[in-house]
Amino acid sequence: MFYNSTRNSNVKVSSAEAITQGISVEGGLFVPESIPVLTLDEIKNVGSMSYADRAAFVFSRFLTDFTDAEIHYCTDNAYSTKNFETESIAELAHLFDGTYMLELWHGPTCAFKDMALQILPYFLTTSAKKINLDKKIVILVATSGDTGKAALEGFRDVEGTSILVFYPEDGVSPMQKRQMKTQEGGNVGVCAIKGNFDDCQNGVKAIFTDNEVKEALEAKGMMFSSANSINWGRLVPQIVYYISAYAELVKDEEIELGEKINIVVPTGNFGNILAAYYAKHMGVPVNKLICASNINNVLTDFINTGVYDRNRKFFATVSPSMDILISSNLERLLYLMTDGNDALIREWFGKLASEGRYEVSDDVKAKLREEFCAGFCDDEQTKSAISAVYEKYSYTCDTHTAVAVKVYNDYKEATGDTTKTVIASTASPYKFSAAVLEAIEGAKSDIEEYDMVEKLAELSKLPVPEALAGLRTKPERFSDVIEKSEQKAYVLGKLNV
Ligand SMILES: *Cc1c(COP(=O)(O)O)cnc(C)c1O
Repeated sequence: MFYNSTRNSNVKVSSAEAITQGISVEGGLFVPESIPVLTLDEIKNVGSMSYADRAAFVFSRFLTDFTDAEIHYCTDNAYSTKNFETESIAELAHLFDGTYMLELWHGPTCAFKDMALQILPYFLTTSAKKINLDKKIVILVATSGDTGKAALEGFRDVEGTSILVFYPEDGVSPMQKRQMKTQEGGNVGVCAIKGNFDDCQNGVKAIFTDNEVKEALEAKGMMFSSANSINWGRLVPQIVYYISAYAELVKDEEIELGEKINIVVPTGNFGNILAAYYAKHMGVPVNKLICASNINNVLTDFINTGVYDRNRKFFATVSPSMDILISSNLERLLYLMTDGNDALIREWFGKLASEGRYEVSDDVKAKLREEFCAGFCDDEQTKSAISAVYEKYSYTCDTHTAVAVKVYNDYKEATGDTTKTVIASTASPYKFSAAVLEAIEGAKSDIEEYDMVEKLAELSKLPVPEALAGLRTKPERFSDVIEKSEQKAYVLGKLNV
C-alpha cells in the first residue's frame, strides 16, 4: 500500500514515510491509494480477538511496509490495561433501545484522542527506524486542551522522542490546565502562552517551517514531527474501533451479520467521522454517517449545501473540542469523493485559504447527501440532552457526546429511521464537570472544580477515572508563561540549540 498526497496524486510514499513526514511537502494530506476491503466474515472474526489484535488486523491492510512483529510491538504497547481502564479498550455500552454508546474515553487522559495518541509514538519511532532516520523526533503541539494532554501521555518517556506543548493561558478548562501542568515524564515540556489558541498554533507553524531552526535541529541530530490529526498515523487507529464495534454488535447478537447500522459522531476537525467513512468503505455495513456539530456549524451547512464558508462568527461553547471553523480532514474526504482529482482539491483549498469559502461540484454534493446527514445544536440544547439522557437512562454523558445525542434524536424524529445506531462517545463527563453538573442539577454550581467531580460521582454513580481523581494532590511541574513573541527562543532554549 502506498500513499498519495491530496494536492499531488503523483506523490507516492510508504506508510512509514507518510507517518514521519506528517504532511506532504506541497501542503497536501497523505491518503492510501486505495481502500482495502474486508469480507463480512473477516469483520465477524474480529469479534473474537483482543482489541490489540483487532487493531493489528486492520493495520496489516494499511501499513504493509510494517512487519507483523512491528505492528504487534505497536499495538501491544498501546492497547493494554496498563494504559486503559477497561479490558475492551473501546467499551460499547448498550443503553437505549437500538442505540449504543461507543465509549472512547477509558484511556489515560479521558478523551478519545488517546485511542490514536497512545499508538502514534510507536508508529513514529518504528517508522523512523524503518527508513533509517537516525534522528531524535521532537513533537511540537499547540492545543486547546485535549490533544496536548493526550500527546504528552502518549510520548511520555518514549525513547528517541521529546515533546513540547503550548496552550493558551486563559483558553483551557481548569481540569485541562491541571492535567498538563502536572504531566510526568523525562522528555516532556509544557508552556502557557499569553494569547489565544490561534497564537499558539501560528507560533508552532512558524517554528516548524523556519529553516534556521530546522538546520540548527539537524546539526544536533533532531527533527520536528507533528502529532495532530493531519498525520495518517492518527487517523488509521480510529478506523479500528468502528470495525470493532460492528463485530461486537454481531457477537452480542444485537444485529445480524450484514445488517446496516448508523454511526453518529460529534465532529470538529472531521478526523473521527472520516475514520467511520473509511470503515464503511472497507465493508462495515453502514446506512448513514451522521455528522453532529455545535453552534460552530460550518460542517452542517457544508454537508447540506456543498458550500464551505468559514467567514462567520466563532463561538466558544460548552463542547470546546468542537469549536473549530477549519476542519482539516475534510480535504481527505473530498479527494476520495472526486476520485483523486488533485487539481480540484488545490483549487478548492486555495480558495479556502484566500477567500475562506469554496463550493464543491454537483456530483460531490450528491455523494455528500447520500453518505452523510448533518445537524447541530446550541449549548442549551446540549445541556438539555445531558439531562434527558440522565433522567431516562441513568446514563451520564459529556457535552460533546450530548451534541451527538441531540442531533441523532432530531434525525430520528425527522426521518423515522429505526436502524440500530452507534454514537461515538468522545470524552468522560468528568472532563467537563461544570457543564455536566449544571445540566443535571438544572443550575450553575459555584463549588470548586474537584468538589464538582465528587458531586458528579455521587449523581452519576460512575467511578472517577484515576487519572483525574489523582490530580487534586499531584504536584505541578510546569509553570512557564511566555509572550507569544518569545515562543521560538523558548523552543530553541529547551532543545539546547
Ligand atoms: C477532538 C474532539 C472531538 C472532535 O473530533 P474530530 O476528530 O476533531 O472531529 C469531539 N469530542 C472531543 C471530546 C474531542 O476531544
